[in-house]
Amino acid sequence: MNYKKALQHPIFKTVSQSTKELNIDSYVIGGFVRDFILKRGSAKDIDIVAIGSGIALAKQVAKNLPNKPKVQVFKTYGTAMLRYDDIEVEFVGARKESYQENSRNPIVENGSLQDDQNRRDFTINALALNLSEANFGELLDPFGGIQDLENKLIKTPLDPDITYSDDPLRMMRAIRFATQLGFKIEEESLNAISRNSERIKIITNERIVVELNKILESKKPSTGFLLLEKTGLLNRILPELTALKGIDEIEGQRHKDNFYHTLEVVDNISENTDNLWLRWAALLHDIGKAPTKRFYKRTGWTFHGHEFEGSKMVYHLFKRLKMPLNDKMKFVQKMVFMSSRPIVLANDEVTDSAVRRLVFDAGDYVDDLMTLCEADITTKNPKKFKKYHNNFKIVREKIVEVEARDHVRNFQPPISGEEIMNTFNLKPSKEIGIIKETIKEAILEGDIPNEHEAAYQLMLKEGKRLGLTIQN
Ligand code: ATP
Repeated sequence: MNYKKALQHPIFKTVSQSTKELNIDSYVIGGFVRDFILKRGSAKDIDIVAIGSGIALAKQVAKNLPNKPKVQVFKTYGTAMLRYDDIEVEFVGARKESYQENSRNPIVENGSLQDDQNRRDFTINALALNLSEANFGELLDPFGGIQDLENKLIKTPLDPDITYSDDPLRMMRAIRFATQLGFKIEEESLNAISRNSERIKIITNERIVVELNKILESKKPSTGFLLLEKTGLLNRILPELTALKGIDEIEGQRHKDNFYHTLEVVDNISENTDNLWLRWAALLHDIGKAPTKRFYKRTGWTFHGHEFEGSKMVYHLFKRLKMPLNDKMKFVQKMVFMSSRPIVLANDEVTDSAVRRLVFDAGDYVDDLMTLCEADITTKNPKKFKKYHNNFKIVREKIVEVEARDHVRNFQPPISGEEIMNTFNLKPSKEIGIIKETIKEAILEGDIPNEHEAAYQLMLKEGKRLGLTIQN
């Protein structure tokens, strides 16, 4: 392959020229080279290694660029960054690293290109292209990274036990890359992850979540979660999920394995949405099943109230992992809480009033909820599969129909509390609540349309029943 093709962007000529002016060498390394070979679309990040000062090289490059971009210097890390044409270009001096037991922050010294490649996480991330004028575009691949790209293999450059123990985040990265790229993790490496899984405890939750999100954003997230489970990492970071594993049998009655079911649901939903939070909802939709599981002689296995339990667990899980406790979390909670609602509809005949109640309760999230419930259909019985999907299709059609007619999404009561108070000369009191509830219920049941006049008449009738007198 002619790697010069990878370096067509004008930035590389400028780096090359600047390198010459400083009388040093420099290389483009890591994800940029990997993604060029994999044809993964144009890169937004470029990492440059200087055999010398990365900061000095960044400043020289900025001086030579037509728009003279600002250089951001990170003194503590000895790195510098500039933006050019929407691309973030990061500069770092080649380093040699040595690690201590209790930290993923190494002791850093200046080093050669080879030292710098040694500290990279995977062979496919250690590929470098020379930017010096004399050898422009020459590939430096000391660990057979090209071969591993061809074989679709994630492999560490050095002893995997040392690589993962030094920086345990690499275990998450290995699984994330395997999921994103559809690669296999080399067996020795996978065993080393299992052996070192306990080391994940020195990694901050924020960094773990970055990797989890990338796994969830992949085409087939189950690949990553299966690997996390197999290596023992999942039990340490998301024990709520591993608690769903297994099938119990009492008196010949079995329930499904809710862990594998969950992964199927996540893969299903990923075919229909890129919304990360909806994918999180799919991942967590059944977590309440572990603590609520019961066996009754008469009814068999039940998970009574698992949706409510699960939505409470979402809060604790987000808090523990330092994920945002904002509207995204509330969205996931709501999806989990409501996750069984449309299922009832899929079993029975779909009535207007059931659909109205669903739209009323789910509000703006009703479409996302339907997407979740469709993904939740994992039955292997083709007849049932077809029936459930058909019913959900009817539900979706009815949602549109009912909404156009009744406007119950973001429901605004047609009669305000104030109007009730004025009509019956009432001070704030529980009667107002009763009347409002009666009107809402009548609308949801379809007994009256969602209109002022009909609601007004019902208010008068209900007021009379409550013994109220009309104010003239
Ligand atoms: P992506 O942009 O998809 O995350 P990337 O490979 O560019 O992929 P970055 O996190 O930007 O990932 O890292 C850039 C390069 O730095 C990697 O290709 C790898 O060579 C190196 N690297 C990043 N993190 C580590 C790590 N924890 N240990 C060793 N090398 C790492």
